[in-house]
Amino acid sequence: MMEAKQNGSHHASASENKTSSEVHVQQNGQHEPAERFRFTPEPSLEDIRRMQAEFTDERDWNQFHQPRNLLLALVGEVGEVSELFQWRGEVAEGLPGWTEAERENLAQELSDVLIYLVELAEKCHVDLPQAVLRKMALNRLKYPASKVHGSAKK
Ligand SMILES: [Mg+2]
Repeated sequence: MMEAKQNGSHHASASENKTSSEVHVQQNGQHEPAERFRFTPEPSLEDIRRMQAEFTDERDWNQFHQPRNLLLALVGEVGEVSELFQWRGEVAEGLPGWTEAERENLAQELSDVLIYLVELAEKCHVDLPQAVLRKMALNRLKYPASKVHGSAKK
């Protein structure tokens, strides 16, 4: 609950229009519980792509950032995320019991994963936000909510 409240504070302006409704209405018209953890809307994936491109350009690192190298770097960063969860057993949502330092470590490693993923997509000329929309549409067709509700079966 603490995490949900902390995150909610980022959205104070967005929720000012809200009445007593328990449900947050998103731009796409979908509904979700008001206590659901949410991201801030910025930076967008395109913002992240541009920031990383500037970082890479300034260091003349594009000569090293071919797709295969970026993929290996991405996998390495996923390994760094895994290390933070290693030997801890199952962890509940919101990571109760994790220290602030551990949470910040995780935030940094997840960011490394995202940055490399975005740069890999850029160097492969995959427009990632649009690709996500197409893939989510495919996932909805493959797993109709009416057929798979509450089931983990493939
Ligand atoms: Mg890292």
